Amino acid sequence: MRGTAGGSGGRHVRVAVIGAGFSGLGAAVMLRRGGHRDFVVLERSAGVGGTWRDNTYPGCACDVPSHLYSYSFAPGAEWWPRTFSERQDIRLYLETVADTEGVRPHLRLRQDVRAVRWNEARLLWEIASSGGDWTADVVVCATGPLSAPSVPPVRGLGSFPGPVFHSARWDHGADLRGKRVAVIGTGASAVQIVPALAATAAGIRLFQRTPPWVLPRPDRRVTELERRMYQRFPAAAVLRRGVQWGVRELVTHAFTRFPRALSGYEALARAHLRRAVKDPELRARLTPDYRIGCKRILLSSDYYPALALPHVDVVASSLDEVRGSRLIAGDGTAVDADAIVFATGFKVTDPPIADRIVGTGGATLAEAWREGEGMRALRGATVPGFPNLMMLLGPNTGLGNTSMVLMIESQLAYLLDYLRLLEPRGPGEGRIPGEGRGPGEGRVALDPLPEALRAWNEGLDARLGRSVWNTGACVSWYLDADGRNTTLWPGSTRRFRRAVRRVDPGEYARLTGSGADDAAPEVPARAVP
Ligand code: NAP
Repeated sequence: MRGTAGGSGGRHVRVAVIGAGFSGLGAAVMLRRGGHRDFVVLERSAGVGGTWRDNTYPGCACDVPSHLYSYSFAPGAEWWPRTFSERQDIRLYLETVADTEGVRPHLRLRQDVRAVRWNEARLLWEIASSGGDWTADVVVCATGPLSAPSVPPVRGLGSFPGPVFHSARWDHGADLRGKRVAVIGTGASAVQIVPALAATAAGIRLFQRTPPWVLPRPDRRVTELERRMYQRFPAAAVLRRGVQWGVRELVTHAFTRFPRALSGYEALARAHLRRAVKDPELRARLTPDYRIGCKRILLSSDYYPALALPHVDVVASSLDEVRGSRLIAGDGTAVDADAIVFATGFKVTDPPIADRIVGTGGATLAEAWREGEGMRALRGATVPGFPNLMMLLGPNTGLGNTSMVLMIESQLAYLLDYLRLLEPRGPGEGRIPGEGRGPGEGRVALDPLPEALRAWNEGLDARLGRSVWNTGACVSWYLDADGRNTTLWPGSTRRFRRAVRRVDPGEYARLTGSGADDAAPEVPARAVP
């Protein structure tokens, strides 16, 4: 694939990170803090922020408390304006981290990575991006599980005369004030969009295939007094974050082992619904019939009040067909609309980046997963046949109830240890048994062993079998087409941190280059300032 994925004309780096969202930016910071300079971050858009840059829908905010939804190395506690951050604050936070941590010189913006191919002879990755070609010893795939919008096929959609767009690609040119807006979906995005739109739209038609469980979102402004306290006593912010983490950590056990223990949350959610929606018929439509936690629990204090407004209609069915400006639901209900917003989620179990990564033997990652046992990775990070490729937030690293930043940081420890394994400092100092090469004596790559992957996944499957996600009687994007949970981590974040603190060399085959390539490298390694 030389000429289409990297090649001899590209620049070589030790590490190429793909994506500058929360995980890619975190990787850049930890690489720098770990003393690495020879790396780039390839980002397809014009700025950092990932999901917090792409999602600009009205009402966009985070449903994890601000203190917990921050890097531990950059708490930002003294300037979070609210207890639950709005999207623009998180974006500003990530921009600030990029500045203060010296990440900018490593960023290569507007570089849409189109192909990433493993060169077996040279033991390196060849990368073709819209901004040029690269080669890298290690590729870190930080593209995020929630980055590729998913829009369901709807018959006749092309006949709709008005604006149609996905929640993560908001069309700010479309003026929805005074319009009848159809919102499709009732996930975490929709519950934020509907109240915001309801304030100015003439009408909302909400297509609800499955009612979500919704709990109150205790959001408020952070007071000046609190801010001063965090400035003066940073330990107070650490303590607050610790409490937020600890409470969620305890609840995790209910999700993974004792789903019945979640029934208290169901009672709370029902009371939340009763308080806001007085109409028993509407309330019945909004009441879930599966165990809370089976799908993501949503936090909102203004969703139910919005649904009770006279100009908001809940169609308890999927959108099946469009005939001009008439929308037909699966149950036959027909409503008219001037605009359609798809809040229908993302391609989580079939991420498009997997079609662009070609490993040993010429198979893409997507093919390897399709032809194997589905989307799996050793410790959420590595896949046999794809040496020196590390995924951040890869398979089974998702969480049901706490901050993904915790998982990202754990994986970054694994990444740094992985790089250490590839870089023995001298004879006898390498962690790989028998290692001890000097600089320039040949490249080394690590390829996870299929049996290690199998053992890891057997452990996951055994634990997932008891979880609310598998037993809660719902259909969710956590499960793939075969019903296997390929997305969530069935344990506490502490357990995950322990599992990925260090790389076990016994789980990897060590590939070594002939050395010929290094003796006369076509593309010399070059440090990025
Ligand atoms: P989502 O959770 O996947 O929800 C998609 C919604 O679209 C579901 O309600 C689904 O119904 C519905 N849907 C799909 N096809 C449909 C059709 N043909 N007709 C009617 N409805 C249809 O997507 P999301 O709301 O964008 O959230 C995705 C993830 O992003 C969240 O789980 C969360 O991890 C993250 N997120 C986080 C925040 C935050 O505050 N931290 C905010 C937004 C998003 P079914 O339920 O029946 O499948």
